[in-house]
Amino acid sequence: MRVLIIEDEAEIARNLRSALAAAGMAPDIATTRSEAEAALTTTPYDAGILDLNLPDGDGLSLLRWLRGRGCGTPMLILSARDSLEARVTGLDEGADDYLVKPYAEAELLARLRALLRRPGAALGRVLACGGIVLDSISRAVEINGLPLTLPRHELALLEALLRRQGRMVTRTLLIEQIYAAEDEPASNALPVHVHNLRRRMAQAGATATIITFRGLGYMMRAP
Ligand code: CA
Repeated sequence: MRVLIIEDEAEIARNLRSALAAAGMAPDIATTRSEAEAALTTTPYDAGILDLNLPDGDGLSLLRWLRGRGCGTPMLILSARDSLEARVTGLDEGADDYLVKPYAEAELLARLRALLRRPGAALGRVLACGGIVLDSISRAVEINGLPLTLPRHELALLEALLRRQGRMVTRTLLIEQIYAAEDEPASNALPVHVHNLRRRMAQAGATATIITFRGLGYMMRAP
């Protein structure tokens, strides 16, 4: 899990980095808004931790810029601004969570893990890959412009893969997201759903493909 820490206070950034690394994540640090913009443009981060008072601009404007580009990377604001108004504004601008400084490391890690578990947080997002378009609000799917109705489990599978396209999604995560609170699925349920989804994608002429990592998981890839 690659996480971008956007923080100009060196000590806080260092502490965050070692906490995240100890938790098995791969953290990078950006100390200015422009550094963060460059990093977010070139690297597909799984999440970001965002300070609001940056030397070259406001974290909120970075968030607006990010969401404006259709990037749904989960972002947790970590700020000394503790008013209700500041928190509401941060969430309205597209942050997925908000934690006030000083923070407890255990809480930060728990919240970050929750964000990384969520099937992508930003609302109103249109997910697209290789001819497939999924509107995450209406749940409508189109392939090459033609609507496609998918059974519930295949729709959840498609969404989970689209949200992490270009990255392997583990079997455990897929099963967690597809079956949620349901009973344990049959052991071959996931491969069967993948098989069926692949078939429908091919029939509709999608150019995206689902790659199998045997025993590990799957990845949605654009051509
Ligand atoms: Ca700061």
